[in-house]
Amino acid sequence: MRIIKVETFILHVPITPPITDAINAASHWGVTGVRIFTDENITGYGYTGTCAKGDEMIVDTIDRYYAPLLIGKDPFMVKQLWDEMRYGAMHWIGRAGVTHMAQAAVDIALWDIMAKASNQPLWKYLGGHKSEKIKAYNTNGGWLNWTKDRLIKDMTEILEQGFTAVKMKVGRTDPREDFDRVQAVRRAIGDDVGLMIDVNQQWNITTAMTWGKKLEQFDLMWLEEPLNPDDIMNHRRLADELNVPIALGEHVYTKYAFRDYIHQGAVEYVQVDVTRVAGVTEWLQVASLAAAYDLPVCPHVGDMGQIHQHLVAATPNAILLEYIPWIRHIFVEPATVVDGYYVLPQLPGASTEMIPRYFEQYRVR
Ligand code: MG
Repeated sequence: MRIIKVETFILHVPITPPITDAINAASHWGVTGVRIFTDENITGYGYTGTCAKGDEMIVDTIDRYYAPLLIGKDPFMVKQLWDEMRYGAMHWIGRAGVTHMAQAAVDIALWDIMAKASNQPLWKYLGGHKSEKIKAYNTNGGWLNWTKDRLIKDMTEILEQGFTAVKMKVGRTDPREDFDRVQAVRRAIGDDVGLMIDVNQQWNITTAMTWGKKLEQFDLMWLEEPLNPDDIMNHRRLADELNVPIALGEHVYTKYAFRDYIHQGAVEYVQVDVTRVAGVTEWLQVASLAAAYDLPVCPHVGDMGQIHQHLVAATPNAILLEYIPWIRHIFVEPATVVDGYYVLPQLPGASTEMIPRYFEQYRVR
């Protein structure tokens, strides 16, 4: 099999109503990536996820630097192609960031092709571990711009749908408001529901130590991204001193950075994201690294769960997957949660193929 054409795309899928966390505001989700066509009539779809900003830099990287080295190549040589992209012309300016997200889109499309050619869903092609379902937790009721009333209303509805774990955003200017909102949600959902809070890097170490300790009383499943993601040392201090596990990974780009976090005991839930770490190829390496330290993997879903459901199903130490339903309707086989569990996909591939009507409707380039 040979690659004969590489075509990039940018889709902006509306988020209704728009949401905020402590550092992002989004009215659309950017589904930015690539279709890779082969001479055997199999087409791979891969994408990364954005807040609908910076997408053009991602597709420019693919168009100018990655596409030319893919044409004529065998997509099954994915690991060799990964190295060629990683250590090629873009290495000087991009060991992380835009280039890694662009490479993720390409890598995911290649894995989609391989699974389709093998007539298997990606999770089986990788070697299945969970054959029926994956436990999900829901983030979509806990945005920072929600009023307290809306938080409680949405959380209650999510529980009625069968979810048993929910996440809410914190990191407001006054941490006393965070405390008040977490307290209100815990009271509303009861003690049996898993509750995670996500700071989105908004705190410094002093705030995190002070308010992390105060929030312990709400029996949190984890405290997510409390600090700047480059600050491994202070995450380690928090992990040592708080009685709340630390979760992070959605802004960690490489296996080397994960190695340092993991080896130093600075992370307890590894949230490695396939759209961030240059694709399936490096995601699997990070998950194996975490396994060697007996750490659970609970991916952040920059892909909104389409690809990660496969990776979790194929990974023994992956135990839980985030759920946000913003873009699922655009896919041929949408990620589907029933009674709080992802139902595993059955079609060949990585569940990345889009319905042509939506592909055209949301396409901005
Ligand atoms: Mg997060």
